[in-house]
Amino acid sequence: MIQTFLLTSSLLISQLPTLEPKFINLKNQLENQGFQIIIELPPKRGAYGLLREADKKIWINPVVFELHISTQTLIHEAVHAAQVCAGKGKIKTLGLSIQPSNYARPFFMRYTDVHRQDLEREAYAVQTQPNSYELAVSLLKKYCK
Ligand SMILES: [Zn+2]
Repeated sequence: MIQTFLLTSSLLISQLPTLEPKFINLKNQLENQGFQIIIELPPKRGAYGLLREADKKIWINPVVFELHISTQTLIHEAVHAAQVCAGKGKIKTLGLSIQPSNYARPFFMRYTDVHRQDLEREAYAVQTQPNSYELAVSLLKKYCK
């Protein structure tokens, strides 16, 4: 019985994701702005990340740690968080002048709602910049006070 328990707990420990410093910093910054980061399967099937503006909850799918896209995923959700702050709780676009790379097009073009498409276009635009992390941090600083 004890052995089984030890085996299970050591397996759990080995499965814990190694968090990148940028992931941790961004997570802290979001939490300081009242967002809650939940590392669990998002309520929307197949999503890597999800922000629910009603209660400022951000889900991060645990699979992103295995895929090594955890920071990228959190950066994407951080842009949505800045959009929520900019609209004082009602999500709105920031009016950024940067454009997402062409390979990101199918990801936001699949949204049929035009407003949603604009929101996603901005998140993918930031996410695909070489300085995406710094950009996300500065957007949060600018719009969430
Ligand atoms: Zn998105």
